[in-house]
Amino acid sequence: MKAFAMGKSDTGLVRELNEDSFLISGFENDSPHGFCILADGMGGHNAGEVASAMATEIVSNELLHSDMQGDEEKIVAQIMASLDYANNEIYHKSVTNSQNAGMGTTAVVFYLDGETAYIANIGDSRAYLIEKNGITQLTSDHSIVQKLVESGAITPEEARNHPERNIITKALGTEPTEEYDIYEFEVREGDRILLCSDGLTDMLYDEDIKNIVLSQPDPEEALTALVEKAKENGGRDNITVVLIGISKED
Ligand code: CA
Repeated sequence: MKAFAMGKSDTGLVRELNEDSFLISGFENDSPHGFCILADGMGGHNAGEVASAMATEIVSNELLHSDMQGDEEKIVAQIMASLDYANNEIYHKSVTNSQNAGMGTTAVVFYLDGETAYIANIGDSRAYLIEKNGITQLTSDHSIVQKLVESGAITPEEARNHPERNIITKALGTEPTEEYDIYEFEVREGDRILLCSDGLTDMLYDEDIKNIVLSQPDPEEALTALVEKAKENGGRDNITVVLIGISKED
């Protein structure tokens, strides 16, 4: 298997700051070994920026220096430990620096170990699997509207316009301890995995995301097209997208 990963972040049309952050590591010479982290920060002044940058850097540092190829248990434990460490550091900074008070961030981590992929998340940044036959949301949002949808109180369409649609129920750095969701699956030739912040998914339907990714074989163009479409539709928030592609060895 071969893999690539590429990302793009844009402030959008309304916000002054870009509080999203992403980081890609590995995948050298199309190697199917590497990881990506995307974080969407929140907090007054530039605290959201601080939180999301801390999350991507800390998680990356914790994952980089671990030799765990082929060891599922170790990989899962290390991803969780890296998020715990980031949570701790962000929380500590937010309670000891008044200008960072209350800051926090979402995080979605994609880790590829050959044909096995791992995804961990907290908050409402998402991972999608895009194949020829469709688009599947791999993560579940930790948000008020997600809970309302699951309980049947509102429909997914109503969730899109709900006044509390951007309120998340969990984040890195807002509580002394946190729990994350983790998913594991086997990748296949032709798979595209998209990580994104809610600045994309608030502006685009899943179907539009799928159509853009499938109609643009060049990943750079696909990322640009996603960001441009989100801006065309209002660009109300920061937009960050990371695209991972899987292909067969030549
Ligand atoms: Ca956002």
